Amino acid sequence: MDLQLKDKVALVTGSTAGIGFAIASRLAGEGSDVVINGRTDERVSNAISQITREFNDAKIRGIAADLGSAEGCNEVVRQLPRVDILVNNAGIFEPKPFEQIQDAEWEKFFAVNVMSGVRLSRAYLLEMKKRNWGRVVFISSESALQIPAEMIHYGTTKTAQLAVARGLAETCTGTQVTVNSVLPGPTASEGVKEFVDQLAKQNQQTPHEFEKEFFRSARPTSILKRFIDPDEIANVVVFVCSPLASAINGAAVRADGGVVRSIA
Ligand code: NAD
Repeated sequence: MDLQLKDKVALVTGSTAGIGFAIASRLAGEGSDVVINGRTDERVSNAISQITREFNDAKIRGIAADLGSAEGCNEVVRQLPRVDILVNNAGIFEPKPFEQIQDAEWEKFFAVNVMSGVRLSRAYLLEMKKRNWGRVVFISSESALQIPAEMIHYGTTKTAQLAVARGLAETCTGTQVTVNSVLPGPTASEGVKEFVDQLAKQNQQTPHEFEKEFFRSARPTSILKRFIDPDEIANVVVFVCSPLASAINGAAVRADGGVVRSIA
């Protein structure tokens, strides 16, 4: 299927690893003009080399900037004034008891997980509407709907993303611009793999034993009963970015392996 994404300028935030990398890679494979973002030049260059090795003719460049600050977001906009597809993927997570999460951490989570997408949408959405085509996708999480007690600050930011995305979609009424959220379930990204390896070691388990136990006790409603591969999330996101997905707007699209039980 031709997803009609050739030559679209696509910015994927936090795309040097994990889900963001998988999305950037798929978009490059579809012929989009992809902009990688991460916090360091080295990680950005590594990601570009990896994608270019897979797709020789990939149109790909990068911008190193920390999107947890207004300056970082402004720098991206300065270097990249026009975007057709904005994927707000950059995000951080860390399990921590509620009582131990200080104000500074709440603010940091809010800055990286919510304000990066707010700032970049504010910079790019108006021009998308003027050109009458564009895509904004927020990478939220199943944790937006089922707040994990072990990281309430994370869940809160993921719910906030759904609110921002829905509100922004309403402002696109009558245009061919769509704003949606995609809600991945537990996914074996770089960040999650590190976390799993560490906990498995602590519990004297193999990563496979940890995975089995995790889906038995921590995510018992998963129908998939395994970690999702980042490419499986990228497949969904890239379709939402496609002109073929023109009827999906203001939606919270679940790609969670069935973790969320609601049928609506
Ligand atoms: P990851 O840790 O593997 O990769 C995160 C990427 O974001 C990296 O490229 C990192 O460099 C970048 N990043 C982090 N902070 C940044 C900042 N301040 N500025 C610029 N880049 C920054 O993460 P992941 O698991 O692939 O998660 C990606 C997104 O998917 C996040 O928004 C996360 O909340 C969401 N998500 C992940 C899972 C999961 O299980 N992995 C589940 C649901 C939702």
